Amino acid sequence: MSAVDAIVKVETFIISVPREVPYLGPLREGERINEKGYFVRRGNNSIYPSTDMTLVIKVTGESGTVGWGETYGIAAPEATKAIIDELLAPVMIGRDPGAPVPLHEDLYDLMRVRGFISGYYVDALAGVDIAVWDLYGRAVGRSLASLVGGQRHQRLPAYVSGLPRATLTERCDFAKEWVDKGFRAIKFAAAVSDDGIVKEMAALREAVGPGIDLMVDLHWKFEASEAIRLIKKLEAYDLYFAEAPVEPEDTEGMARVAHGISTVLALGEEWRTLYEYRPRFERRAMGIIQPEMGHTGVTEFLDIGRMAKAFHVNIIPHASISVGLFTAASLAVTSALKRVPYHEYQHSIFDRNLAFTDGAMGCEAGYYRLPEGPGIGVTPNEALWNHVVAA
Ligand code: MG
Repeated sequence: MSAVDAIVKVETFIISVPREVPYLGPLREGERINEKGYFVRRGNNSIYPSTDMTLVIKVTGESGTVGWGETYGIAAPEATKAIIDELLAPVMIGRDPGAPVPLHEDLYDLMRVRGFISGYYVDALAGVDIAVWDLYGRAVGRSLASLVGGQRHQRLPAYVSGLPRATLTERCDFAKEWVDKGFRAIKFAAAVSDDGIVKEMAALREAVGPGIDLMVDLHWKFEASEAIRLIKKLEAYDLYFAEAPVEPEDTEGMARVAHGISTVLALGEEWRTLYEYRPRFERRAMGIIQPEMGHTGVTEFLDIGRMAKAFHVNIIPHASISVGLFTAASLAVTSALKRVPYHEYQHSIFDRNLAFTDGAMGCEAGYYRLPEGPGIGVTPNEALWNHVVAA
């Protein structure tokens, strides 16, 4: 059988979008932007860029049809770009986008024996995988949700992620604004709490009242016993979930926390493949998984979603810094999965991104409006190309 629209060209673009307020809120004492444009958050000892960086992938078929993808480019996107340009692109030429899963498996194999089974290599795979699925959908005139099994949800509940304001009073007021706009779920990032996480949570619950789902992101900061003690204290404020309490390497610690609290644990934004998820599922280390489309691509995201079903675990996808392309893919694939209470909504990024793409995607009054049309349902427009820093 001949190819749907054989791949003839693969291109990559590093995008850098300026932002007024740094990610997770204004810089705090002792935090400064270094000569390369990055800063370290003292609250979680993680490095962040001062602009929003991402990597966009364009795959062209022999008929001229174009597929768009995007991958995680938050730090040193040059590395991911080089992997695609040097290693993946030449191997992809001539392959059939109508067979995206075999292509993804073959590309994964290229570097397996060298131990490149996660990190930047798999981010690169994620970006091209989204572009290949998009090209497939556009070539045959079908949406991504229909290609991966069929759309179940017509809209998806959105939880408001992060309250990037300088003081606790301002964060409480900001939370109330979202509730007034119709949102029913809010997460705060413990990395930026001033007077301790318990006080922050107590004040937020007081501010929004009962009936709103409150979540906390603990940013991998605690030893397992500390995490259990802390989360038990937070139970008084009726947490919907507690996210990432212990370091990602500590699978046993995660399982201990999960089994030692009555709050649901949410984990997985930093994991990329089925192989990373499997031991955590087996240890029953979480009740909610948070796959990030920018790390997984469509193929792994689907596999992970199916495995979650086998373990009766809910899926609340993560939504990282992007320009909206992998967000569209995430919404499309999530709309085809079963147990999905929410999808993350990073308002400061998502709302801005709507200017960079053409398509029906949106988020209002507590719900995502899903992309429509073939492939991922959105395409980059002129506004995005003003922010290309390397092609
Ligand atoms: Mg998180």
